[in-house]
Formats: sequence, C-alpha cells, structure tokens
Amino acid sequence: MVQSAASVNGFSDDQSVLLIGGAKRTTPSRWPDALVIDPLVISRAPLEMTRSGLGDQVSMFTAGADWYLANAVGFDTSFSPAIVSMMRDGVDSLLTASRELGRGEACAVSALAECLMRGGVAMGAAGRTAPSSGLEHTISHLLEMRADADGQPSASHGSQVGVASVFAALAWRHVRRRLDEGGVTLLAKNVATRERVLDAFAELDSSGATARECWRLYERKSTWIREHVSDLESVVTNWPSHALEIDRLLEPGEVVVAALGDARAPVTFDQLRPTPDRTVVVWALTNSHLMRDRFGILDLADLMGAWTPDDVTTVLSELDGLAP
Ligand SMILES: [Zn+2]
Repeated sequence: MVQSAASVNGFSDDQSVLLIGGAKRTTPSRWPDALVIDPLVISRAPLEMTRSGLGDQVSMFTAGADWYLANAVGFDTSFSPAIVSMMRDGVDSLLTASRELGRGEACAVSALAECLMRGGVAMGAAGRTAPSSGLEHTISHLLEMRADADGQPSASHGSQVGVASVFAALAWRHVRRRLDEGGVTLLAKNVATRERVLDAFAELDSSGATARECWRLYERKSTWIREHVSDLESVVTNWPSHALEIDRLLEPGEVVVAALGDARAPVTFDQLRPTPDRTVVVWALTNSHLMRDRFGILDLADLMGAWTPDDVTTVLSELDGLAP
C-alpha cells in the first residue's frame, strides 16, 4: 500500500469502519502487506488533508482517557499502558511543530505520518480502535451519518475529529469538576431506555433500521451498566487515584486548540467546511454515547445526571470561547 497523504491513522491497522444498518461500525479487515510512506509524496498532498491528519492524531488524548475509564469500571479490560506509550512517542514534538505542519513542510508532515502510522499499529495491536477512538470519534461518526442521511457532504473525517477532540477534552473537564466537588450519586434510572435511543436516531432513516442498529449495541452496554452500578460507584469513590492516571493521558483542550490553530485546522464546529447545522451538532453531542457499546466519559456523565441539555450547551459555549 502506498500512502498518498498523512490524513488519517487508518492506513496501518487491520480494521475498517463500515456503514452497517446505516451506523458506523468498526469491522476487522487485514493488515497491509507493506506500507510505503514517501515524505515527498505526502508533503505534496493538499494541506487540508495534512491538517485533517493532525485532527485524527489528537484524538489519542481523549480516546486514551475513555479507554482507561472503560478499563477502570471493568467494561473493557484491554487498556494497555504499553500501547499508550507507543502512541505517545513523538507526539509532543509534533504538537510543537504544528505551524510547520500547517505549511506542509516535509519534515513535519513525515513526523505526523509516523505518529499516525504508530496509532494505526497501536489499534491493531489492541485489537480494537479504542486507543484512538473515543467520544471524539462517535461525535464525528454521528455528524457523518446525519450528513449521509440528509444527502449532504460532510467535512473531512480528521477535521471533524480534531474539533470533536477539543470538545471531548472540555467534556472530560466538565465531568471531572463535578467529580472533584464530591457528593456524586450514580442513578441507574438515567441509563437511556430503548425508546430514548430509538427516538434519538429516528431521523437517520425512515425505516428505523439505523436507530435499531444503534440500540442493538447500546442495549448491551446499558444492560452491563445496570448490573454494575456498584463497580462504577467504586471508581467514583476512588476518583483521586484514577484522576492521576487520567492526567497522564489527557491534554487540556487549550493545548489541542493551540496545535490545531497553529496548523490552521478548524477548532470549532462552525469552522468546519462544510459547516454542520448547529442543531445537528447539538444532537450529535447529546447522543454520541448512545450509538455503540463502548464505555466512555458521557456514559459516566449520564449516570451522574451531568449530561443534560444545559451541560451540552455549557461545554459547547466553552469550545466556542476557545476559537482563535
Ligand atoms: Zn479517525
């Protein structure tokens, strides 16, 4: 395989995202026999593609935190510090070279391609996309699914993921503030019902097939959550020890904004081209945790009663406030 742009991390893994029943689903595919990355070729790719690659790359911060959380609560025990460390290699210097990246300078584009390649290998080694696919990717998936349903084009995958990564970092901070305040109660009655999930995704197709596909996977997660509320409560009770680990994974939204902004990549949903409708963005942010069976920060937020329409509006306003 010859990689023609540093635009996504999917060139070097053994999984593909397919539309199944109208919903984006990760599906096993195969490893490439060989991957050729020519610095001259990728540095001549359109700058928008390189900037999108940076957006896909920064997903590792919030995705890593979601992956850690899924492990901590016992939903998915595959979290691997070794894989996280492999993915982190070279990322800090990449973030400081984002200006050069935005200009398509060969050195910086090659560094991005190496990081993306390691991210793909990490996902393959983990046997799942979780190391680089958390809340930020489900937001992007929903934006794309909605655009497809409406027959509209959507912004590139990486540009959406970059913006959604900033939003996810802010959502993490929003929930952590509540946890730091203490006195959090988890209520199983807050777990979404079949009716809520079907209603959330009803507009994706007239037959209801996509909504049923989302419920098919969410149902597994919701059943697990109801049966493991005490495990979740113990994570909340021991939050300070988890917070230390999560601090190693998460980068503040401001750091991600600075890197994307320096590369002249979008940092807010309004800066995406084409720009998704505001109501569609709010819909995706509100419901992204209901589309699949991966545990993340919004599942915890929902249980805490911390993902109401007001919470979504608050975090979205914070994101808009970071626009350069
Ligand atoms: Zn991606």
